[in-house]
Amino acid sequence: MGISVLPEEIANQIAAGEVIENPAAVIKELIENGIDAGATSITIILENSGLKTITVKDNGEGMVEEDLLKAPQRHATSKITCFNDLYSISTMGFRGEALASIFSVAKTTITTKPPHYTSGIQISSESPDSISSVGSSQGTSISVENLFYNTPARKKYLKSDTMELRSIMQIIKRFQISYPQIEFKVTHNNSLLVHKPSFSTRAENLEYVLGKEIRGKLLEINYETKGISITGHIANPTEISYSYKKNQYFFVNGRYITSNVLIDALYHGIGSNLMVGKHPSFVIFITIDPEIIDVNVHPTKTQIRFENEQEIFEVISSAIDSVFSSKPLFREFDTKLEVESSEKPILEKNEGSSYFTNDFQKHFEVEEDTISYEQTPTSSPSPNTQSQSLSLGPLSEELYEYKILGQLDKTYILVETTTGLLLVDQHVAEEKYFYEKMLYDKNNNQVKQQQLLKPYMIPLDNSEMLQFRENKEILINMGFEVEEFGEQEILVRAVPITLGYKTNHPDRLKEMLYSILSNKTIKCVEDEHHAKIASIACRSAIMAGDELSYPQMKRIVENLKYLQKPFQCPHGRPTFLKYDFKELQKKFKRIV
Ligand code: ADP
Ligand code: MG
Repeated sequence: MGISVLPEEIANQIAAGEVIENPAAVIKELIENGIDAGATSITIILENSGLKTITVKDNGEGMVEEDLLKAPQRHATSKITCFNDLYSISTMGFRGEALASIFSVAKTTITTKPPHYTSGIQISSESPDSISSVGSSQGTSISVENLFYNTPARKKYLKSDTMELRSIMQIIKRFQISYPQIEFKVTHNNSLLVHKPSFSTRAENLEYVLGKEIRGKLLEINYETKGISITGHIANPTEISYSYKKNQYFFVNGRYITSNVLIDALYHGIGSNLMVGKHPSFVIFITIDPEIIDVNVHPTKTQIRFENEQEIFEVISSAIDSVFSSKPLFREFDTKLEVESSEKPILEKNEGSSYFTNDFQKHFEVEEDTISYEQTPTSSPSPNTQSQSLSLGPLSEELYEYKILGQLDKTYILVETTTGLLLVDQHVAEEKYFYEKMLYDKNNNQVKQQQLLKPYMIPLDNSEMLQFRENKEILINMGFEVEEFGEQEILVRAVPITLGYKTNHPDRLKEMLYSILSNKTIKCVEDEHHAKIASIACRSAIMAGDELSYPQMKRIVENLKYLQKPFQCPHGRPTFLKYDFKELQKKFKRIV
């Protein structure tokens, strides 16, 4: 068989197969070129999902004759000149093959006008060597007609028109997100699909592109370490999250990318701030020295390789974590409550009931900690000394001085601070404390046990017994002393001291163990171990509906000070709501 060098045209068609898979890929390349040319406005005009025509018009720097002739040649690029340039690439394109590929698979026309030209110049794929003069505004307009007309095999692989249009719109949305300052306009079969104005801030831009839903719910990310900068926004997961992945965007050095390392790091960083089975929305921009990422991985360039995955994982997850541990996720004053209460004051509702009677007040007379362990071993520290081993968290300042006003609806603890009123959910607050405390003790190898005077016998069925065997390690690590007793029972000899006073009742303990052994793990917490701790914490915390004594309330509020992430429980429910005095004054029109 004779060897022959492929004609240029066929070589280009083969290369096009890699770069230009569908209309969306053409649009991506053309928009990138417009961005590289410094455009502030890009218009995309489509017919029949881009299969009939695609026109991308920008107001960038344009091209002079010499460049216009070179642009559609393979490996013609103004962006790199030697191999080492590949490692410091900051423009979108650099391979110099997009235009060559597009020219080879569609009838293509480029019209361009640099700012100092009085009229435009044009070439087309039909006669790529001859330039004609045409009227044009500043910038470049590239029209692509009858895509894949000469490569029917490729055309066969296209999806339905609606699917192709959807891919196009996805690609365009990424650009709209990452280039707030650029105006984007998209029309399809003469109807306007998108007209995004230019915005000076990313937040405004996002609120526009992602829609009303996220308005006012964005938390800002701003983090820098080890030459890596992480900026962007995450929608407050207490206010907005989805049961599927929606609006999740990572950009690395301006380029949209997908990466499991980044996704894993993000969920790790959010941790228990996200509700079970839910997914957050976010747009995150990562800027890294191009020398430590490999951008030249895949022709369509959405996959990326990091030289040091562990490091990038840690950086991203700390960046996200810092959003939640630094800012209180205080909810806004509920306007519905405002309306209702102005018609029917809450306190009036309770007038005449025994709610604020002496009976309740008596609780306040009980001095300090009266909670007793039914079987208190001599070595057992009081709950307050337990929490002192944890360091103070973000709420400690708010709670530096406070007064417990009472309990509301046997569910909320009312706490007056120097700046407002906190409504603390008694169950969530205690649950979160147990969760953090157990984790802390575990991580610091200081899990303490409380021996039971008499071991509890707990009957298990076959599948529960299997679960028990699987989880025995974890239970022991957390401070339980448990063992199998025959085929169908387990024996509990000791429990974690953090939960001590909660687990003294056999029924409580049984219920807690059942819930740990059942498969209901909490998906949003980082790993199985955390999930088990979360379910123990939930099961052992005071329930809504339990009437609390003053010392019990005091202990719950005291413990809040030591929470590192006090704003939500592991399931993502808020621990407390805050009503600022300022806000109240405004609502009562005392101030404007
Ligand atoms: P690359 O972008 O990888 O360099 P392309 O084939 O996309 O390769 O483009 C080749 C060259 O043509 C670019 O390097 C640039 O100099 C020029 N070019 C392409 N599109 C435009 C445009 N819209 N405005 C100005 N110059 C452009
Ligand atoms: Mg390009």
